[in-house]
Amino acid sequence: MRIEDGKVFVRQSWLGDSLLCLERGRLMMTQPEFRTTNDSAMLGTAVHAGIEAVLTNKIEARDAHHVSVAKLNELQLNDNVKITNTDPSTWEPLVTSMTKAWVDGVMPEVPLGGEVEYKFAVPTGRMVSGLELWFEGTMDYVHESGVWDWKTAARKYSLLEKQTQNIQSAIYSGASVNLGLCSHDMEGGIDFRFGVMVRSLKGDTQILSVRRGKAHWDWVVEQAATIVGAYLALREGEAFTNAMPKNDQHFLCSDRWCPWWSVCKGVFIQDKDNKLGDQ
Ligand code: SF4
Repeated sequence: MRIEDGKVFVRQSWLGDSLLCLERGRLMMTQPEFRTTNDSAMLGTAVHAGIEAVLTNKIEARDAHHVSVAKLNELQLNDNVKITNTDPSTWEPLVTSMTKAWVDGVMPEVPLGGEVEYKFAVPTGRMVSGLELWFEGTMDYVHESGVWDWKTAARKYSLLEKQTQNIQSAIYSGASVNLGLCSHDMEGGIDFRFGVMVRSLKGDTQILSVRRGKAHWDWVVEQAATIVGAYLALREGEAFTNAMPKNDQHFLCSDRWCPWWSVCKGVFIQDKDNKLGDQ
């Protein structure tokens, strides 16, 4: 989150991370230079580049994978990429396969005429500690019929899990209605679609549609207001210097999956400390 001109701006990715671990959310704000990225995020960014080039009419769909691979090569120059569960020799074929999968399996379902990489900021109408609470972010694709987001994932998503818990769809759908980008209203609800490319050489895709309405918007505003309130209550003056509760009771708290490991649990716990002894 960031504070500017009496407003506090929250991004969905920060809110999701902060709900998982308050310290992770604080480190995002205070020590961005220590953030690491991982292979899975890098592959996703590369595939996004190809998709964006097609949707903005910079290239033909059949050439999308070339843009994705060029982006992958650029991203690989960063030697701070953590390898989680992929083999680097498969990165280029995977990026090629996932981009082609989007062209063949997702693109035909995407309505034409929308906005690509749409940056937004929207007020929630809620005040927190004297600040206006706003959401901000970038929509992969917004059309009058709803918002789309492109995901690369190790496996297909669970529709029930996304419908009951997903934060991004609630924020982006509410923002698209409040900003007049969609022709529906929050009372009737609108559809938010995930275009998912499964990380495999088979080219599997999935289009997942979750329904979002006023109840989801109200709940995500409540979630954001309570989290932001907790950070603001614990800051010293203008600075977030006080460490927040460090929640390591979930699998994303690990050297592989937490971008802040090196300045948090990693200061205490090394690989050798997690080795099982003789049973
Ligand atoms: S290492 Fe664990 S406790 Fe520390 S910020 Fe990451 S998830 Fe939270």
